[in-house]
Amino acid sequence: MITGNLQTAAYLFASILFILSLGGLSSQESAKKGVFYGIIGMIIAILSTIMGESVQGHAYILVAIAIAAIIGIVVARKVEMTSMPQLVAILHSFVGLAAVLVGYGSFINPGEAHADPEFATAMERIHLVEVYLGVFIGAITFTGSIIAWGKLEGKIMSKPLLYPGRHAINILLVIITLTMMVLFTLDAGLSQWTYLYIMTAIAAFIGVMLVMAIGGADMPVVVSMLNSYSGWAAAAAGFMLGNDLLIVTGALVGSSGAILSIIMCRAMNRSFISVILGGFGGVAVASTKEMEGEVTSITHDEVAELLKESSSLVIVPGYGMAVAKAQYPVYDLVDILRKAGKKVRFGIHPVAGRLPGHMNVLLAEANVPYDIVLEMEEINEDLPETDVVMVIGANDIVNPGAQDDPGSPIYGMPVIEVWNAKKVIVMKRSMAAGYAGVENPLFYKENADMLYGDAKDSVDKINMALRR
Ligand code: NDP
Repeated sequence: MITGNLQTAAYLFASILFILSLGGLSSQESAKKGVFYGIIGMIIAILSTIMGESVQGHAYILVAIAIAAIIGIVVARKVEMTSMPQLVAILHSFVGLAAVLVGYGSFINPGEAHADPEFATAMERIHLVEVYLGVFIGAITFTGSIIAWGKLEGKIMSKPLLYPGRHAINILLVIITLTMMVLFTLDAGLSQWTYLYIMTAIAAFIGVMLVMAIGGADMPVVVSMLNSYSGWAAAAAGFMLGNDLLIVTGALVGSSGAILSIIMCRAMNRSFISVILGGFGGVAVASTKEMEGEVTSITHDEVAELLKESSSLVIVPGYGMAVAKAQYPVYDLVDILRKAGKKVRFGIHPVAGRLPGHMNVLLAEANVPYDIVLEMEEINEDLPETDVVMVIGANDIVNPGAQDDPGSPIYGMPVIEVWNAKKVIVMKRSMAAGYAGVENPLFYKENADMLYGDAKDSVDKINMALRR
């Protein structure tokens, strides 16, 4: 058992470690250290909570933690890197569900909320508002995350579901929810449980509709937005339980998720409000533009010859590189070319892959030096002076239609302007569209050649040809 003061000190220490962890995660060099701080912080947080004076039923808690830890380890070891966004989405749904259950539990047993007789009524009401808001945010996070999981897993169509009057319906539901919150807090009209149940159902419905209305290339924002919601749900649970550490941690996750959502929106030139309200005013019409030009293909040996003759090269990786696990042969390719005195760099689009920072993680995993990994804005400037661009399993992020086809669903999204280079090699298995489901005019450009096949297999073959 630890006393209140010691517990407060432990919470403070854990909070500092969480802040250091977030700071560490902001750059590749310090990311490992950031994860380490997070692990230590979480161990301190769990131990100091379950060893607290007010906690009962330690055996149950320890058994629950052990079972959850085993499931967590098994799932995390099994999951493919390409399925990480789905895993993150489903984990967010657990935070939402936990907030709903904590809310119900806290309503049944308010604990210390009524402790001080002088302020009993005021404290009780504040506690009821906490319960109500906690369950509301939790239920939205729960169902929204399940829909996001379905969309990322391909179980639900990714296309946004836009029906007329959806904003009016959402606004009406929020007004009903707020009115019920007042009645629930004052214990007027129907029974409090009835309000709680109706509100939970409404919040669950809002969660579904909110995420159903977002899709295609806007999905990265959904992932980061639900990350933020799960943080606020945890903070709400912290208020209900009177646990300061949970409030601080929830607020950290909530605000960092919100900042990430804004960064992702900027990267895609979308308004944050319009995305979170589910495509408010952003209805895109399907492109009807005819593709002009002819698609030409190239062989692995020809690519190797081209690379031997070039002096500057840019690699633009995308989701297909992750699927093929091509980052390791890509590292070898870079190594061979750099040893031959060529200037090789990577151009990373902020929403490449299926997870914020997806490409950076893969390249770091394969030991690609950080100083040759550049962001979209930096690399775009240099592309006109680049001899060859190799697009490895990317599609939406190099689609010129985003700049010159107002009918395209991704119109306005900044892209890597690979077509400005002297030669572009597009490595993918077929002419299939990317995540947003849009055709890509890049494949038809005169200076672009397709190299069909699995990305890993193709890079292996190019490496072999270069070594010959
Ligand atoms: P895309 O999904 O646009 O394109 C990936 C391409 O990779 C496909 O066209 C596919 O073509 C090809 N591919 C798949 N498997 C292989 C393989 N084994 N070998 C070679 N090629 C392969 O990916 P981008 O990275 O260009 O763009 C990301 C998209 O995902 C954007 O629309 C973004 O908004 C969205 N998104 C991003 C998230 C994030 O946080 N980063 C989260 C959710 C969505 P083919 O089948 O012909 O091989």
